[in-house]
Amino acid sequence: MPGARLRSRPGEVAADAQLEPLPLARVELRDSFWMPKHRVYRERTIPHSWFYLQWELRALRRAAGQPVEGELNGTWGEANLYKFLETAAYALAQERDPVLERRIDEVIALLAAGQQPDGYLHVYVTNNGKIPWDPDFLDGSHDGYVLGHLIEAAIEYHAATGNRALLDVACKAADQAWRHFLGPGGRPGFCGHAELEMALVELYRVTREPRYLELSRALVGWRGRGKVKPFSDTPRAYFQDAVPLRAQRTLEGHAVRALFFATGVADLARETGDGDYRLAAHRFWDSTTLRRMTVTGSVGPRREHEAFGEDYELPHDGYYESCAACGLVDFAHRMFLLERRADSADVLERVLYNAVLHGISLGGTNTYYCNPLRDRDHLRDNCWVCCPPNLSRTLLQVGRYAYARGHTGARPDLYVNLFVGGSVQVPFPAGEVTVRVETDYPWDERVTFRVATPAPVAFALHVRKPGWCEQARLELNSAPQDTLPDDAGYWCFDRTWKDGDSLQLRLAMPVVRLVAHPNIAACRGQVALQRGPWSTALKDSTTTATRP
Ligand SMILES: [Zn+2]
Repeated sequence: MPGARLRSRPGEVAADAQLEPLPLARVELRDSFWMPKHRVYRERTIPHSWFYLQWELRALRRAAGQPVEGELNGTWGEANLYKFLETAAYALAQERDPVLERRIDEVIALLAAGQQPDGYLHVYVTNNGKIPWDPDFLDGSHDGYVLGHLIEAAIEYHAATGNRALLDVACKAADQAWRHFLGPGGRPGFCGHAELEMALVELYRVTREPRYLELSRALVGWRGRGKVKPFSDTPRAYFQDAVPLRAQRTLEGHAVRALFFATGVADLARETGDGDYRLAAHRFWDSTTLRRMTVTGSVGPRREHEAFGEDYELPHDGYYESCAACGLVDFAHRMFLLERRADSADVLERVLYNAVLHGISLGGTNTYYCNPLRDRDHLRDNCWVCCPPNLSRTLLQVGRYAYARGHTGARPDLYVNLFVGGSVQVPFPAGEVTVRVETDYPWDERVTFRVATPAPVAFALHVRKPGWCEQARLELNSAPQDTLPDDAGYWCFDRTWKDGDSLQLRLAMPVVRLVAHPNIAACRGQVALQRGPWSTALKDSTTTATRP
């Protein structure tokens, strides 16, 4: 996919681009499981995080021309700040906080002051007199990685508050990146840590500026073609540059980089309808979720290069970085939006509840960086860089992962992927509908949906049949239903919904004994007991269920 060809096809929109998550402001969490945790993230995690951002804030002040003393940040440190700002944006989408917004606006002013006249914004580089987008260090630098996180934070802060100052900064920086790579005299390359690829697609969705989509396609298409010179002796697979996209059969290398790359590819497939991206996304999905994921949804077992291993290489004491789990949640979300299949949401649920959730302590101020399955004597640490703000930004997006809205032809669709007590407001063309959800999931197997609408509205309610659930009972307005899930794995109720209509699920949650695939050496002669989230839909997966 050479750059010239990419430029001739900007702005294509896929036929299924209408499926979209609902804004977090439209989703209210009111349950005994998530609501208390989100309160802890808002009231304890976010205030606690500021202390660990002092390196970043000093660097910003230096870049803005202010005198500072003390140590400054490292090459990827600014991403911590942006992941934190994104966390704060999700919290603000749920509950506005003028004090927090004032502090963030001060940070945005510093960012604007530290931004170079041409738009470049990576203050580690400018403070240290290094070369922006250094062609001799692209594999090890983090120019694109931090810019990607800046863009995502800016989009969410704007969505939550209506304040577009950070979005303006991000667009100016993205414009500089486009000119650097695709403008007159531009040279092919890409940042060794993927992230910018998916962020540019999201920025395109918000701005409809085709250059952002064009640059994302170029950064993906240039991989595997010798466009970036390895700085050190790390293998090219470490930064997903071993072979071109079409020839990549599996996700390889640094697990976080690889998953961010795969998410960008899935995003491009969704936005452009290009079959090459779609096929690649499916190859990455299958190789990761069928053969390289633990029973708890962790990935990336190798400590060396923080990397994926071979198929079925899943030791109990593997590395399994929290950011890789967060990355897999987002990859699963994009695969759902791309294909509307419940098995993507099965993986999302498994990873979210089992590999991400415990990463932040119940008190909100301690974290896990890694997630080994055998965790004896492994105390929580509190480095608060890299993974902690990624965990909080992921966990505060539960409402986004839970629902999606779209249409099939003229029929509006509402998808339910996660079972979370509270409500969602859905603006259908025929009128706004509120769906209230009553449940103590995952502790209890009952989930009730109640529709509130001033006038009857026709829409199809697609409720995910969890892959782990073998026995379910459904009642529509108290009448038992024998509805079978469709080929995509959803119970579909396509009808005219009236005020007060209800749908009740009972999802039997017996304890299940899991046996690992025989190729997983670490699990031979062992079983795992599990209740709730897992997936029988993955027939060739790393686990098999047997009756206890
Ligand atoms: Zn991390």
